[in-house]
Amino acid sequence: MGGVVTGTEWAEVYDPSWRPSFTQNRQGLEIHFVGSCPRCTHGMTFNVTPAIPPSAGVATRGAPEEFTMYCACGHPHEGHPDGDNSCGAYWPYEADLA
Ligand SMILES: [Zn+2]
Ligand SMILES: [Zn+2]
Repeated sequence: MGGVVTGTEWAEVYDPSWRPSFTQNRQGLEIHFVGSCPRCTHGMTFNVTPAIPPSAGVATRGAPEEFTMYCACGHPHEGHPDGDNSCGAYWPYEADLA
């Protein structure tokens, strides 16, 4: 391949104006967020495994948690490191993981 990635061309891309909207699907213990990357607009799925509360049954529902979502579009992007097909963008996302 060749080519040296310099600076933050690929990774650590973040724009506070991004307000992506993802569809939330619970799959067993995982929650799958399905939507489009706000930067490259490729469709992607982001999987989150919420922390299991120590005592099951007393999870506080309705408390949104913020976590970092990152592009996982699977498309080859110029300048991406070998083996990682995404545009490198990440963004904070708030969702109810309970
Ligand atoms: Zn992409
Ligand atoms: Zn992307």
